Amino acid sequence: MRFIEIKHCYKVYKNGVAAVADLSLNINKGEFVFVIGASGSGKSTLIKMLYREEKPTKGIVEIGGINVGKLRNRTVYKLRRKLGIVFQDFKLLPKLTVYENVAFALECLGMKGKEIRPKVIKALEHVGLKEKIRSFPNELSGGEQQRVCIARAIVNNPKLLICDEPTGNLDPKTSKGIMEVLETINKELGTTIIMATHDKEIVNRMKKRVIVLENGLLVQDHEKGSYKASESI
Ligand code: ADP
Repeated sequence: MRFIEIKHCYKVYKNGVAAVADLSLNINKGEFVFVIGASGSGKSTLIKMLYREEKPTKGIVEIGGINVGKLRNRTVYKLRRKLGIVFQDFKLLPKLTVYENVAFALECLGMKGKEIRPKVIKALEHVGLKEKIRSFPNELSGGEQQRVCIARAIVNNPKLLICDEPTGNLDPKTSKGIMEVLETINKELGTTIIMATHDKEIVNRMKKRVIVLENGLLVQDHEKGSYKASESI
């Protein structure tokens, strides 16, 4: 079932840079899609348009029936509730425990403690961190911190998980663990995952759909397992 539809989408920044040009793309529910390309090829711009950090200059970005570019600032929350986002830098709140960091995402949605607790525990179980519930971010390894971020991103059971270079700060072994967590979430929860990455080892190993951007253009779209990254990314 079609979930994300991008039609003839352009993003031209105020300085005249065309970061994305004439991009058309469909993603089905439950897919796991890598977005790759050299630095400056438009990956972050595409990702930002998905969570409406940037609006397309022209064209349509639609997620689960919501025309993202048409959302007003005060209604963006309707979209953000449906998705989780994981960044390269962990963006955890240093004075809050692991539990509180994850719970905070639900408190912001107006949920109360009783409702929050089972969801937080379940999310932390999914990322294998239940035993670290009382730890503070600075007591965790980089990989563990990223797992907390993933728990925070999935705690409200989003249909879409957007990951922008989630392994960018991690060593290969830790990155592998993070990818296993993401794969489990995709398989067990059916969450659609879109992940921008530079890491060709990950892309080659995971055998998922791969979209390649070059100077803002979609130049390749490989079905599951058919892509083998060369030295060029
Ligand atoms: P990537 O994530 O693949 O590195 P980006 O989407 O960040 O690519 O950038 C694509 C192009 O858009 C680059 O030329 C970059 O310099 C430019 N760009 C990105 N963000 C902005 C911005 N806020 N204002 C102007 N130009 C931008």
